[in-house]
Amino acid sequence: MVNASNNLNKVLADIKKVCSNAQDVEIIAVTKYADNKDIKDLLQLNLIKHIGESRVQDAITRWNTKELVEYKDKLTKHFIGHLQTNKVGKALEFFDFIDSVDSLKLAQIINKKAGELGKTINALVQVKLTKKDTQGGASLEDTQQLIEQVKKLENINLLGLMAIAPIEENPENLRPAFKKVKHIFDTNFDSLKDNKKYYLSLGMSTDLQVAIEEGSNLPRIGNAIFG
Ligand SMILES: *Cc1c(COP(=O)(O)O)cnc(C)c1O
Repeated sequence: MVNASNNLNKVLADIKKVCSNAQDVEIIAVTKYADNKDIKDLLQLNLIKHIGESRVQDAITRWNTKELVEYKDKLTKHFIGHLQTNKVGKALEFFDFIDSVDSLKLAQIINKKAGELGKTINALVQVKLTKKDTQGGASLEDTQQLIEQVKKLENINLLGLMAIAPIEENPENLRPAFKKVKHIFDTNFDSLKDNKKYYLSLGMSTDLQVAIEEGSNLPRIGNAIFG
């Protein structure tokens, strides 16, 4: 068992150190590798509004267990993994956000399925920060066009961007890439204009502070809480 509440407090303190409006930062607790007991301990604190999962069926199974089912409808549930097109329907029935929209083809399938289910799904466009083929995301060059295309889809409520940084021994090295994503974010999403809360989801356990300094308001934290 881990001390999830202690760990969360450390994460919150780290955010406060580098951010003057820390109350605007909302943490996604990434529960994909965590024990249900530890998750329950964390949720009882009432400090976490968002959870993230990267596999559709595993998430549905977990959040329907006796221990966690009471929290299911109170949380905003984010899908943060690679979404296979044949799992879109199931994902839409369970998740509140798809944070990994990385192609027009996937967006169109999500839009169509959401229409069939009579719902609007919140989404983020995922930006790719490495050249590696194994990682999802639209390239920095393609992101602007994808944002414009997804904004036109009527059953998708596009609320920002997500990016997964490559593993870096020194998180400082990620700063230039984060700045590029922030620039695209600022160009396309303006909360003052339409009064919606937009999300820039950068940063995980190892690069949290750099990501927050560069404007992330939705870091995704697994290990630092549950590890
Ligand atoms: C697993 C995962 C995380 C959490 O990473 P930690 O290093 O455990 O904080 C964040 N984002 C995505 C997309 C993930 O798959």
